[in-house]
Amino acid sequence: APTTSIDVFSRYESEVRSYIRSFPTVFDRAKGARLWDAEGKEYIDFFAGAGALNYGHNNDTLKRSLVDYIGRDGITHGLDMGTQAKAEFLQVFHDIILEPRNLNYKVMFPGPTGTNSVESALKLARKVTGRSTIVSFTNAFHGMTLGSLSVTGNGFKRQGAGIPLANAVSLPYDSYLETGLDSIALLEHMLDDKGSGLELPAAVIVETVQGEGGINVAGVEWLQRLANLCREREILLIVDDVQMGCGRTGPFFSFEAVGIIPDIVCLSKSISGYGLPMALTLFQPELDAWEPGEHNGTFRGNNPAFVTGTEALRLYWRDDRLSKVTLSNEKTIRDFLMDMVESIPALHGRVRGRGMAYGLECGVPGLAEKITARAFERGLVIETSGAESEVVKLLAPLTIDSEDLHQGLAILADSAKAAAK
Ligand code: PMP
Repeated sequence: APTTSIDVFSRYESEVRSYIRSFPTVFDRAKGARLWDAEGKEYIDFFAGAGALNYGHNNDTLKRSLVDYIGRDGITHGLDMGTQAKAEFLQVFHDIILEPRNLNYKVMFPGPTGTNSVESALKLARKVTGRSTIVSFTNAFHGMTLGSLSVTGNGFKRQGAGIPLANAVSLPYDSYLETGLDSIALLEHMLDDKGSGLELPAAVIVETVQGEGGINVAGVEWLQRLANLCREREILLIVDDVQMGCGRTGPFFSFEAVGIIPDIVCLSKSISGYGLPMALTLFQPELDAWEPGEHNGTFRGNNPAFVTGTEALRLYWRDDRLSKVTLSNEKTIRDFLMDMVESIPALHGRVRGRGMAYGLECGVPGLAEKITARAFERGLVIETSGAESEVVKLLAPLTIDSEDLHQGLAILADSAKAAAK
């Protein structure tokens, strides 16, 4: 029989354990921006559940709301039923998030995870327009189910399962690739040119900052031109805010700072505030073409997630304090990374990001993964992203305190120095 918990994984779980490879331990407890493994070793968390823990682990206020709810035998599993917890969430989401921003969206609970939100968005766009093509971008990540995977601009993830870009076309994402290509002009040209093979699309789906793709930040002007083109051609604009929403880039929605209003918005990850599965799809009211039962799912009504989600909105979004903290942390993170890149030339590093989503791109193959491995040994949980795992991705909880933030950054710098030698 296995002798330790980690042996249990090797023995019984499939070999596909990417996070166990990156973080070879057995985690047990977590609080705020810290994690502890079963041996009691402490780690700073610069991973935050890939964006699902923007308010940190086991936030006391959220925990109390959850414990109280379960204590009074509140509905746990609600399918599609009307529940008090869901009604409260909808009301508070409207009052705290939508109304103050003058946003007029209907809300749908598409299923438990981000990919469910993307699937529902693609389906709705196709149904409303009667068209089938979806335009997406290289290095995009939208999920692992067939529809969302077909718009995910990562050949490795698609091709293993034989998923073509079905009814989809993947264009270069803004100028970060430094190809000099203007993909908006290209799209416009393809729409005008009957010989291009591109039919009028139902929708364009875009992340304002690509998370899994390597913290690629789309330019404001590029996004505005994209939104304008969509409006002119009556193509629906879907913003996938699964990773960059819930304050990750500063404002609640990542597109607020860009001045665009999507037709459809995908949210998940941090929307429950407590790491519980929950997703939302927001769409302009006139797009509500669903018929009863047309999109359903057993776990659409995760009521404990509605409870913590409601509490998180009340706690963090009644005013813009969290956004301000995020933008001030951004300066700390950016300055620190810029100094690091300058003082460790062997990184051939480049820094980019927005809010508290930051990337350190390493110009040497394999180096970013070496850095994150060293960081793990030194007590920092941090992942890479990008098509070649070439970017160290800093995704600390938005609520991290200054001491933990500085400690995490110091570990990262030490690890980078050691790995770049
Ligand atoms: N969209 C984006 C932008 C994401 O980052 C992710 C997850 N990394 C997804 C969709 C898919 O979410 P999930 O893993 O919850 O299905």
